[in-house]
Amino acid sequence: MSTARAVVVGASHAGAQLVASLRQEGWSGEIVLVGDESVLPYQRPPLSKAYLAGKCSLKELAIRSEDFYAKQDIKRVAATVKEIDRSAAELVLGTGDRLAYDALALCTGAHPRRLRAEGADLDGVHYLRRSSDVERIREDTIPGRNAVIVGGGYIGLETAASLRALGLHVTVLEAADRVLERVSAPEVSTFFTRVHEHEGVDVRNNASVEALVGDRRVQGVVLASGESVPADLVIIGIGIEPSTELAEAAGLVVADGILIDAQARTSDPTIVAAGDCTSQDVPRYGRRIRLESVPSAVEQAKVAAATICERDKVIAALPWFWSDQYDLKLQIAGLNTGYDDVVLSGDPTRDHDFTCYYLRQGELVAADCVNRPRDFMTSKRLLAQRAAVDVAALTAKVAV
Ligand SMILES: Cc1cc2nc3c(=O)[nH]c(=O)nc-3n(C[C@H](O)[C@H](O)[C@H](O)COP(=O)(O)OP(=O)(O)OC[C@H]3O[C@@H](n4cnc5c(N)ncnc54)[C@H](O)[C@@H]3O)c2cc1C
Repeated sequence: MSTARAVVVGASHAGAQLVASLRQEGWSGEIVLVGDESVLPYQRPPLSKAYLAGKCSLKELAIRSEDFYAKQDIKRVAATVKEIDRSAAELVLGTGDRLAYDALALCTGAHPRRLRAEGADLDGVHYLRRSSDVERIREDTIPGRNAVIVGGGYIGLETAASLRALGLHVTVLEAADRVLERVSAPEVSTFFTRVHEHEGVDVRNNASVEALVGDRRVQGVVLASGESVPADLVIIGIGIEPSTELAEAAGLVVADGILIDAQARTSDPTIVAAGDCTSQDVPRYGRRIRLESVPSAVEQAKVAAATICERDKVIAALPWFWSDQYDLKLQIAGLNTGYDDVVLSGDPTRDHDFTCYYLRQGELVAADCVNRPRDFMTSKRLLAQRAAVDVAALTAKVAV
């Protein structure tokens, strides 16, 4: 039994996996998980889905039980880490206490990008990242009220679906000319717009927010066009920013995320990092990427734990992601960056299930699969093989 202490900062998907993996990899010393949310680490994806819709409790979302941490002798500390004192190998906590470490992992995740517009701090204006955010939103979700969602990305659209289920009137304001513009092909955007409009959501593209108006509490959103949209509550979902302040202040290299190598090491090889707070050079994509997904946080955390335990693992899994809206399950395999062709299996203008394959120079780079779990599995296999695919064979082989 070692007396060395491993400290993990940030208690969510990456942090919770990292502490569990440390034990699996044979770390026999102390393990301390420090997080600034006082509840047990919980699954974040259901926040905009089942948890917002009131279909599950926070307890049901726990990643692991209280019992697990006790049995694995993992100490949880509810505190904010204010500083990393690398020369002393100590953390400075919000309370002023210092916590020494022999191994350190940063899993500080991300926080919502703030809307810079007049009135953005009025009552009734919300962001959605933590369970406590959803609890505040739930206080405002009274059937018949007008909810305005700023941002037509996955979280905005999932939130729209959940609020419709709760009986609110929902408007989605998207600044670009289509929803999901940053992440998907126009065909996929058209599909999700059609579904949301069918469900009664007012989807407005090219709708930039100029100001939020109201007397203490928000009453409306004024668009750049001059038009005003009534609002009893506003939820802002315009993306996230990696939480890198600690790492930056400690002098670690940060480039749109704490830069890590294939073994999850930061620019200080004695400190690892994992999850939404990181960015990584990925040869396959020929560029630096920062992923915002649970599978990636979990994969990086496993590798980071192995690195701390001096085992040789590398981050290898292909990116994948999912989004649930109404009765639709979108599963995404790979990353579509730089795609030059799109092949459809199914008709997104009519069907309730289809797959959009993204190709780059004949190679499959990603697939968006809506209610097509088999296509998703096949796509993951094809992506792993990196075999060149001919279009006809792809749709014939993969289509249901
Ligand atoms: C509403 C919503 C829906 C989502 N849906 C999906 C989905 O369908 N599929 C999917 O794959 N992903 C989804 N995601 C993204 C997914 O939740 C993230 O990729 C995942 O949470 C990343 O985990 P993480 O541990 O890296 O970071 P985070 O979950 O951001 O956790 C970081 C933790 O560190 C804490 N922390 C930060 N700084 C400090 C500090 N200085 N001291 C102490 N604690 C600190 C934070 O408070 C937080 O608790 C969704 C996210 C949201 C918000």
